[in-house]
Amino acid sequence: MYCPECRCEYEDGIKVCADCKIDLVEGLPPEEIKEDEQIKWVEVCNPLDLNQVIFIKSLLQSESIPFSIEGENLDRLYGPIRLVPLRVFVPRKYAKLALDLLKDLK
Ligand SMILES: [Zn+2]
Repeated sequence: MYCPECRCEYEDGIKVCADCKIDLVEGLPPEEIKEDEQIKWVEVCNPLDLNQVIFIKSLLQSESIPFSIEGENLDRLYGPIRLVPLRVFVPRKYAKLALDLLKDLK
């Protein structure tokens, strides 16, 4: 028997988790793995403007590196003066490759 909350395994005959005080179940569903929690995103670049963002995107896409860009869609909210810095993130396992690609931009 298993506790659905803390996923502890208990011997047969025990019906309630000692820690969580909830009913045990016969079998546990496979643990859900959320992609977002698995990927550690690393900041690799602070583009100066959206033109640079477009260029960086094309570089990353050409190497099939997944990326996430923060601040990209805030231009229209804040007008021509950029108050929110642009930040480019890639999953940690791609960080070295991305940094290598983007090193000429700095
Ligand atoms: Zn429990």
